[in-house]
Amino acid sequence: MARATLYTHLRIWDGLGATYRDDVDALRVEGDRIAWMGRTDDVGADANARDMGGLTAVPGLIDAHVHMVLDPDVRDPLAQTAPDRAVRAAAMAQRAADMVRAGITTARDLGGGEWLELELRDRIARGEAVGPRLVCAGQPVTSPGGHCHFWGGTAADVDAAAAVIARQHERGVDLIKVMATGGTMTKGTTPRDAQFDRETLAAIVALARERGYAVAAHCHGTAGIRYAAAAGVATIEHCSWVGENGWGADYDAEVAAELAARGIWVSPTVNLGWKRHQGSGSDHEKRLLANFAAMRAAGVKLTASTDAGIPNVRHADLAKTLPVFAHIAGFTNAEVLTSATADAARAIGLGTTTGRLARGYSADVLFVDGDPLADLGCLVAPAQVLARGVAVIG
Ligand SMILES: [Zn+2]
Repeated sequence: MARATLYTHLRIWDGLGATYRDDVDALRVEGDRIAWMGRTDDVGADANARDMGGLTAVPGLIDAHVHMVLDPDVRDPLAQTAPDRAVRAAAMAQRAADMVRAGITTARDLGGGEWLELELRDRIARGEAVGPRLVCAGQPVTSPGGHCHFWGGTAADVDAAAAVIARQHERGVDLIKVMATGGTMTKGTTPRDAQFDRETLAAIVALARERGYAVAAHCHGTAGIRYAAAAGVATIEHCSWVGENGWGADYDAEVAAELAARGIWVSPTVNLGWKRHQGSGSDHEKRLLANFAAMRAAGVKLTASTDAGIPNVRHADLAKTLPVFAHIAGFTNAEVLTSATADAARAIGLGTTTGRLARGYSADVLFVDGDPLADLGCLVAPAQVLARGVAVIG
């Protein structure tokens, strides 16, 4: 029989809704699953019971966009590669341990060059390393000289893209990432410009989907967002609405309506550094607030994500970032928590596995001392974290 632990005297927020559950205050974990939720008063003496003394339980957090391979203290992506592969792998394993101890029990890795993050994913799944459940894209498909071309996923045409996708398939990726526009990290690319025309992007996405993969599309410029929406990707990363007049200056209501109609998630990679915009009253902040309000009014779904690994964006900082995301997206605390739990799980294809506290779901649980629906700050220092049923603190 699987190892079982009963956690009692909890306050439970289950990933959905605006308030705590008033009908349950206990949960039993069997193996890696939540086997039961109910009332402390209804369970008899149980040798495996743990009185949690009124701690709050919420689902483990999910970051929908990270790069395990990137060291946030290194600015130049080409200088990222430590000469020794074992050193790189050890650094990644340390990041994974830091993340899960900070309450991140699942993360989607959207790119690296040598599939090291897939090895880490498998070691974590086997219980040989401590870390979040990882969902990995491997080498992103990009144009010659395009965004993150140094990771090896360069494709000049659809046939070349098919070869890149086949290579990722052989390596055992979970999804395909495509760079629909340029990025800030790669010299010689322009975030505004689409890297593939509409037809080529549609063909690349179709190839990935034929193999059963969801596609995450990196999109800063509005043209790339438009093509990715038409191609039927699962998630739009960044979604910066960059146009002729700069960042956030080319919001397109028609494209937003298409995202909403097709159920395409926006993963806006709001990181802790965006705090500098918060309350600045700058034109940039005004455009951000207006664009997020418009997307939400149009029915576009948003998932929390940080792009952890890019310069100064730390892998374990999702909880710290949620108040910033809440401000920019106009979310209540409960809404931003849903974006980082139940909704993030749906966005990355794990909506029936994790992101909620419910019977049958993975036992990914964050126990905090405080009231996160009133003050998100208490999420930053969890009292305990369960990752697939295993306690990772202490
Ligand atoms: Zn990224």
